[in-house]
Formats: sequence, C-alpha cells, structure tokens
Amino acid sequence: MNVSVSAALSDRETTRPRTADDAAAARAGAFLTIDLAALRENYLALRNRLGGRACAAVVKADAYGLGAAHIAPVFHEAGCRHFFVAHLDEGLALKQALPDDCAIMVLHGPMPGAEADCAHAGLVPVLNSMEQIEAWGALARALGRRLPAFVQIDSGMSRMGLPEADITRIAAAPALLDGIIVEAVMSHLACADEPDHPANAEQLANFRRRKALLPDAPASFANSSGIFLGPDYQFDLARPGAALYGLNPQPHLPNPMKNVVRLMAKVVQTREIPAGAHVGYSWRFRADRPTRIATVSVGYADGWLRSLSGRGAVLVDGRAAPIAGRVSMDSITVDVTDLPPEAVKPGSLVELIGPDQTPDAVAALAGTIGYEVLTSLGNRYHRRYLNG
Ligand SMILES: *Cc1c(COP(=O)(O)O)cnc(C)c1O
Repeated sequence: MNVSVSAALSDRETTRPRTADDAAAARAGAFLTIDLAALRENYLALRNRLGGRACAAVVKADAYGLGAAHIAPVFHEAGCRHFFVAHLDEGLALKQALPDDCAIMVLHGPMPGAEADCAHAGLVPVLNSMEQIEAWGALARALGRRLPAFVQIDSGMSRMGLPEADITRIAAAPALLDGIIVEAVMSHLACADEPDHPANAEQLANFRRRKALLPDAPASFANSSGIFLGPDYQFDLARPGAALYGLNPQPHLPNPMKNVVRLMAKVVQTREIPAGAHVGYSWRFRADRPTRIATVSVGYADGWLRSLSGRGAVLVDGRAAPIAGRVSMDSITVDVTDLPPEAVKPGSLVELIGPDQTPDAVAALAGTIGYEVLTSLGNRYHRRYLNG
C-alpha cells in the first residue's frame, strides 16, 4: 500500500492563527488548566493551621502530575522554604526552578553510588537505612566536611526509615552519625486520612519515643491529613502534598481545599446510532434507543483510567453525558442523546475534571484515590497555568 505524503503547506497557503499558543490550543485534543492562585491559597490555608510551625511542599512526581517547575515557585513565593521530592533526578530538576534560599529534600535518599551527585547538587537526602547513613557519613569524611540530611525513622508503616533496632544501635553509638548534620528527624503516617484509626496514636507514640533516642533535632511527621489530626501531630515541619493540589485531606468531611485542576477535552466527532447498535471495544455498550454518541479526545493514555469504562459522565455546560462503553487509549465515547445537538459538535469542549467533578470524585468512580488520578494525567494535554 502506498500512502501519499502531502507536502507541507507554505506560509501563504495557511491561514495562520494569531499566536503560537492559539495554534497549539487549536491543535490540542484536550486542555489541562492549573490554577496557581488556588495552589497558593491552599498552601497558605495549610500553613495557617500550623500555628507558626513550618510548612513544606511535597512536589514529588512532578508536583503530583501538575508540573513542579511551574508550581514550586508559587509555593516559594508564598514563603515555602522546604521542598520534598522522591527521586534525586527530581531534585536536580527542581533545583533549576527554585532560588537557592530553600532546601530540597530527597525522600528516597541517594541510591547506592549516587551520594556524590546528591551532595554536589546541594540536595538534602532523607536517610532511611543504616546503609544510607553509612554511605552519607563516608562521603562526608571523604570530602572533609559535614553534610546535611534528614533521618527518617519508622514509626509503624514498615515502608521507609530506620527500624527500632537500628535507632537503638545509633543511640548506643552516636558516632554512627559522624559527619552528618541531622537537620530533622522525620516519619510518615499510614492512616492519617482516617482520624479514628488506632494506628495514628500508636505511630505518634512510637515517633516520640524513638526520636528521643536520637540526638536532638527538629521533627517532621504530618502529611496533608496529618495536619488535620491536630497540633500533637504537627511538630516543627509539616509535609503536605495532596491537599496543596486540592485533594480532600479529610475524606469523611467537606473538602476545605480549593480545586486546582480543570480537564477539558474536545469532541472529535458525533454520530447517531440505532437501537441495538454497539459502542467501543468488546461491545460493552449497547444502545437501547436511538442514540447520539460523541467521541471525545481523551483516553487511558492521558490518565482517564480504563477502570472508568461505563462509569460516570463528562459535563457539557454543566449537564452530564454518561460514558458509554470502554475507555480506549486515546478516546472515550459518551452518550449525548439527551443534550441539545448544538451543544456537542466537533471541537466542543466537555469537562472531565473541575469544581463540579473533582479528582476525588473521579477517583471514587474509578475505584482509586485522587492521588492516582492526578499523577496519572498524561503529557499530551495543552497545559495552561492560570493566575501566575
Ligand atoms: C508523599 C509524601 C508526603 C505527602 O503526603 P500527602 O498525603 O500527599 O500530603 C509526605 N511525606 C512523605 C514521606 C511522603 O512520601
């Protein structure tokens, strides 16, 4: 088969759109809009709850999928001076986006062999194990200077941080920390979004007791939900992520945070199908009446999770159009039979995420959490940062 390759249009042949951004918007299949003013408000609202204690910003996973290079400077401008990423490479990239007057902590610590890169970049590792402590201390001795670090202790999550036996070892031999400036001792809550869960009080008691075995240093314990467990959980430096991005830190209560994200996608085409016709992969939708189907340019490759197949709806001018059938890689099909035809045409925008359909609500439909909805958002969107 031969496919004829059309020659590129000359400038004179094109009707050129006004600006590069207009052109990109016209080409795009979907728009992801991020409200920087809402991010700033969320940061200030969390910090206000901390009664003078410091509030970091967790910007790992590209600021939960929303774009760390755009977002971290907003928190910095609001007064944030402590940033957390998970990977060293995330820290190296973030360093370029922020002034030098703040600390960037790497939650995973340096992987073996990457300690020197971490130190040379001026990043602060979170040391989670004896191996990481030994390697960081050895580098400090080799460089002939002390190196800063956070030390993480496990208070009951059994994921990262020193187990009690290692804390006891350090208590008996503080020289194990030689060369290391312990900027803070931290731990992480497993069940903070469930205020009544007994794990919270148990972890708090473990944290206090185990931290007291180590040299005196500031303490960091609370994630977003942990802040809402009250002052006992807040310590010197809180580490919110999710709530900054508008996710509800108290899932059992109304969300106090501002919505940050809006996802709009374009209609590619519409069609009328008779009763009895099927839609999409595996014929999972069967029309039980003459039906109007709109195909929308967003799919699971864009983070519209395949588990949303046949679940939920998109919004067209505030009216729901149910998702019909399977979510495909690049598109979804929605039932727009009950909407005015002029509201749904090629290029019309439908809303998938926004104030009326929050990431938490989408997550509930998909059987997951808002964190996964946000961090799954793909990189094909035309992204816009508002109120910068
Ligand atoms: C991701 C993470 C946070 C932020 O948690 P949220 O629930 O998003 O506020 C804080 N601390 C650690 C160690 C983390 O891994």
